[in-house]
Amino acid sequence: MAKSSKTEFEYQPLSAYFRKFILWSTGSLLILFLVLGIVQRVFESGLRERMLVSHGHGLDMAEQLINVELLRAVQDAHLLAELNDIEAFLQAPDNVEARMALENTLATFADSYGYYDQIRLISLDGMEMVRINYEDSTAHVVPVSELQDKSGRDYVTQGEQLANEEVYISPLELNVELGQVEIPYQPVIRIVERVAADIPNTSALLVLNYKANHLLNSFRSLFREDERGMLLNTDGYWMSNHERENEWGWQTEQPSLTMEDWKSPLWSAMQSNDNGLYNEGELSFSYRRIEPAGADEQTLDGRYATDLGVVPSIQNGSWYAVVQTDFSSRMDGTFFRSWAGYLLVTLLVAACLIQAFLVTRYRATRTHFIREMKDLYDNAPIGYLTFDADGYVKRVNRALVDLVGYKKQEMIGKMRLSDLLDDPGAFDLQKLKSGDQQPKRIKQRRLTIKAKNGAAIPSVCSFTPRFNGSGALVLSRCSVQDFSEQAELEDALKEQARTDPLTGVFNRRYFWELASQEMGKKGVESSPVSVLLLDIDHFKQINDTYGHTDGDTALVSLTHICAEKLRKSDILARFGGEEFVVLLPGASKEEALQKAESIREHIANTNTRLSNDVALQMTVSIGVATMPKRDIDELDELLNLADTRLYQAKDAGRNQVCCE
Ligand code: GH3
Ligand code: MG
Ligand code: MG
Repeated sequence: MAKSSKTEFEYQPLSAYFRKFILWSTGSLLILFLVLGIVQRVFESGLRERMLVSHGHGLDMAEQLINVELLRAVQDAHLLAELNDIEAFLQAPDNVEARMALENTLATFADSYGYYDQIRLISLDGMEMVRINYEDSTAHVVPVSELQDKSGRDYVTQGEQLANEEVYISPLELNVELGQVEIPYQPVIRIVERVAADIPNTSALLVLNYKANHLLNSFRSLFREDERGMLLNTDGYWMSNHERENEWGWQTEQPSLTMEDWKSPLWSAMQSNDNGLYNEGELSFSYRRIEPAGADEQTLDGRYATDLGVVPSIQNGSWYAVVQTDFSSRMDGTFFRSWAGYLLVTLLVAACLIQAFLVTRYRATRTHFIREMKDLYDNAPIGYLTFDADGYVKRVNRALVDLVGYKKQEMIGKMRLSDLLDDPGAFDLQKLKSGDQQPKRIKQRRLTIKAKNGAAIPSVCSFTPRFNGSGALVLSRCSVQDFSEQAELEDALKEQARTDPLTGVFNRRYFWELASQEMGKKGVESSPVSVLLLDIDHFKQINDTYGHTDGDTALVSLTHICAEKLRKSDILARFGGEEFVVLLPGASKEEALQKAESIREHIANTNTRLSNDVALQMTVSIGVATMPKRDIDELDELLNLADTRLYQAKDAGRNQVCCE
């Protein structure tokens, strides 16, 4: 039985498991999605961090690019400003040779650098004095007759205010020729340096038109594919935009194409911070204010601003580099925005849960089964015993322990099957071990178990031996059924079947059995056998006189009186009614006669006490027959002979023995 109700195994029906499964599944999926949510957050914030790093990197590169490009242009202006040819030309502007020398030098410079599509010397009142155009990868000297008046142009006005060797950097804008924006667009930055000859009042402006396409293309290539880089001027117009038609709004008469109009809060933020991040929904913008010629502050230890004579007050104002990322498009490619991914994870988890469910169910069923088996085994009404190939006890159940009286630990591994048998050789283990035969079951063997207290317990045992692949006995299970009660009953039944219920002596049937055995006994064939057939005289009268019960008493008494005269080997039986038979193995005719006489005499002389204290004296007539040699086939004849002689004795007057 189970030890306690707490440890009692409870078998749960399938529906209970199913409820549990649903509960577990729901819980697990909730936890899964919670975890996925957290992971998504962490992943997203990592992605944002990387995005910001990439933005920062792009903006750094952009700033560096702009600074480096413009510084180089300023350096170029300084280099050209130092040319003797300029000095010579300014001293004698009408000297053709001086002009040609200067034009040649500037054209060579324009050719070899390729960055400038115009290199000009302009008088302080705005007239072009020398002009080199760089078109189609070639420098052209513009004839004097085609030189233009540029007075009033911003860069001229600004240039006029420069001191010698100071540099003005113009805003980046599209080139305008003869009042029209040049097509295709030619973004340009004008680098203006005031140059002067040693003679007073010979100053002029050296103007380099820096081709900004190179700068803008390099700028665009700095950003990742999913990033949009933008470059804006001081007023918030685009000088570079991923959608090209948004560029140059102030020159293409589209004044609304500004950052302020597009994203006013972003523009405000850009106005108040040099660097920053602006988020709008899934869009993230990083921006930075860039001083185009501010390399002095950022990169080169502040040396250039003074060395190169860049005039801070008349620089072209701040630019803004902006980089934009659509965060949702970044996330789109990831697991977290993929339904297939979620579905896969859900399916995987569901598969795991189903498997866990099945395993749990299987284990529970198995545990239940094992416990039930164990319960059945332990509490079976018959004993179970398992022994190994050497006969050693390996396992026993409670019923067997109760039967034999040994404790489990006294038996297991210590006692053999033979130790538990009354006759140790009664079960031939060796025969089973020899493996000649491999019976599946040895049924219903009657064995006597020897208990600890020495009691012999008749038992019925069945064996189920197990053999390994090579036919060797591994173990055998054995059921042991206490057969004592049945054996007793059997004995009692046997006894009943043999005896006469009234007198307790053998009955006629068993007499035949015993007599037949005696007749057929080996080794004593030549020894004689005699029978005495006794009949109570006038028994009917006894019955009639004293009643049937006293008649029975008389019958019982007769057997006792008779037995007093018999040896152990003599067999007394009731032959029927008031007729008895005695088999005298080994008795000759004389001995039989003698015995008959002594019995007759003893009966005649013995009183039997009946009810009412009546003393009854009975007599018997006896027929005697003898067989000098034993022959089983003659038993019938022998008895017939005795019967004949009994009647002769009756006829002769009763209370006598007749043997011839
Ligand atoms: P005989 O001297 O010629 O043998 O005369 P008898 O009266 O002994 O013989 P009979 O065959 O005429 O009677 C036998 C009687 O025995 C008849 C029967 O009722 C009686 N008897 C037989 N079996 C039993 C028994 O078991 N108990 C009693 N009380 N009487 C029995
Ligand atoms: Mg009779
Ligand atoms: Mg009689």
